[in-house]
Amino acid sequence: MIPAPFRYLRADSAAHAVDLLGEHGDEAKLLAGGQSLLPVLKLRLADPAVLIDISRVPDLSYIRVDGDEVAIGAATRHRDVVESEELRREVPLLPHVAGYVGDRQIRHRGTLGGSLVHADPAADLPCAVLALGATFVVEGPSGQRRVDAGEFFQGYFQTAVGADEILVEVRVPRTGGAGWAYEKFVRRSNDWAIVAVAAVDGRVALANMGETPLRATATERALAGGASPAEAAASAAEGTSPIEDMHADRAYRAHLARVLTERALVTAAG
Ligand SMILES: Cc1cc2nc3c(=O)[nH]c(=O)nc-3n(C[C@H](O)[C@H](O)[C@H](O)COP(=O)(O)OP(=O)(O)OC[C@H]3O[C@@H](n4cnc5c(N)ncnc54)[C@H](O)[C@@H]3O)c2cc1C
Repeated sequence: MIPAPFRYLRADSAAHAVDLLGEHGDEAKLLAGGQSLLPVLKLRLADPAVLIDISRVPDLSYIRVDGDEVAIGAATRHRDVVESEELRREVPLLPHVAGYVGDRQIRHRGTLGGSLVHADPAADLPCAVLALGATFVVEGPSGQRRVDAGEFFQGYFQTAVGADEILVEVRVPRTGGAGWAYEKFVRRSNDWAIVAVAAVDGRVALANMGETPLRATATERALAGGASPAEAAASAAEGTSPIEDMHADRAYRAHLARVLTERALVTAAG
């Protein structure tokens, strides 16, 4: 399948990308690794007249420890997240989860920011950053603003990033030696999650249990009250609204959420 014709522009900084978005309005879309956008264009589910390539903007690709957090540029590739010594030491959940994204080729092209703004509820990294309680730095015509993880994912493939804005940085709290685990259920390796669970330091997030990644708040409350992993995991599906598709119906997804949550909590507890 061939995408509809588009004009290709390359941004040389985040500010330049914002200017180009302002110039071309609704006609334009940012292109990062292209691993989600290009399939969408090829299927003609979108036909932007202008693509603004941010994949080579040097000031959008970095990983650095900054106080209690690690700051990651939005155009940092999955592979660099997987291999980062700083992240393995300071936030081990994140590079571990990035290793589950697609296959090696996809991880070489795809970016952290692209995955988060695409906001597929079945994706791995949105679930991980929600469990971590990340903060998102978004830049637009009137400057930068910060968005908490709980407000970032707003609906099915929808985030708080406006059409005239760019996600520039993701800030994840350093979790150091706190217990963590990721459980992803797939039928074939390299697939998107049928259900996945990220657990870190008493926080639990679920992928593919609703229109956005979700915190398992009943489970978190039970854990805080001293419940065992099995007792806390029993309420993992509370308040969720998973889809039914060819892979699983709602009841099976709810069952998976409970089973995977218990496994993740046992692993996280060491
Ligand atoms: C075969 C295949 C298997 C895959 N398997 C998995 C998997 O198992 N798990 C998983 O989680 N993902 C999977 N993916 C998706 C992959 O992770 C993509 O890399 C990711 O979803 C998008 O990142 P990208 O950099 O390629 O973004 P792009 O495709 O370039 O962009 C995606 C969207 O985000 C917007 N965007 C990108 N960057 C920014 C930014 N900085 N600010 C604002 N908007 C931005 C774009 O405009 C576009 O709308 C798979 C993809 C493929 C093709």
